[in-house]
Amino acid sequence: MSDLSSPNWFTEQCDSTGSAFSLRIKKKVVEKQSPFQKIEIYETTDFGHLMVIDGCTMVTTRENFLYHEMMSHPALFTHPNPKNVVIIGGGDCGTLREVLKHDSVESVHQIDIDELVTQMALKYFPELCESNSDPRAHVMFDDGIKFMREAEAESLDIVIVDSTDPIGPGEGLFNHAFYTSCLNALRPGGILVQQSESPILHQKLMKEMRDAMLDVGFDAVQTIPFPQPIYPSGFWSCTLARKQGQFGEFRVEDAQAFADKADYYNASIHQAGMQLPNFLKKVL
Ligand code: SAM
Repeated sequence: MSDLSSPNWFTEQCDSTGSAFSLRIKKKVVEKQSPFQKIEIYETTDFGHLMVIDGCTMVTTRENFLYHEMMSHPALFTHPNPKNVVIIGGGDCGTLREVLKHDSVESVHQIDIDELVTQMALKYFPELCESNSDPRAHVMFDDGIKFMREAEAESLDIVIVDSTDPIGPGEGLFNHAFYTSCLNALRPGGILVQQSESPILHQKLMKEMRDAMLDVGFDAVQTIPFPQPIYPSGFWSCTLARKQGQFGEFRVEDAQAFADKADYYNASIHQAGMQLPNFLKKVL
């Protein structure tokens, strides 16, 4: 058994939660500092490429489908006819690829603050970028906080916040002001979906997010846990918030017909994801 402290392993040590996660690596491929964050790419022995931003695992070749599918399809199949979508963050382009699998979608604007993330994704995760040339895709680079503040009122059906954790440039994406911008930009029935960290490690933040979304005027929130091997605890979530609408119903037949386009998401996973586990019911 090789020693985790050897150069053959990448480890993300999460002091705030007393946990750590390691992947065995062949080599560090590149490290670059953008004006916003440090980005590293590793070649792993078993998970393909690994992208790390400011020391935090972001995405690997092998398992990214879990996160990208669950950040996209529950919201898109809950909406009756999603046409105009915005992705805040998402610079690795995996979420963009998932959204563009929906024929009803007419436009997706992806706004990531850091162009270097997408440049690295194009080189080391080309499979995630395969839809970037879709005429419906508009890949932009700006602060998502500013973009949503300036977005036209009632112009969007779905806003997906695929950001880093609430530190650094991502911090301003988890507060009342940002949620108010999103509410204003969404049409009635529109849905905000945001990565809401770990149901095991971050319950306080998750509750604060949900409460803030309801405080600013969203009518309903729904947290959906899902497996996410490379993030702290291996158990992650997204939280959906609905403007002038509720959660529960979704386009089951369309979701069932979608099965050949997804590797994790399906109608049963969607249905099951709507049932909060008991330990979360007690705290949310
Ligand atoms: N799946 C990852 C996770 O859950 O941590 C997120 C992936 S994606 C790489 C996260 C992106 O959020 C990064 O590319 C980062 O540049 C972007 N980001 C952070 N703060 C932002 C902001 N204020 N506006 C736009 N993008 C932002």
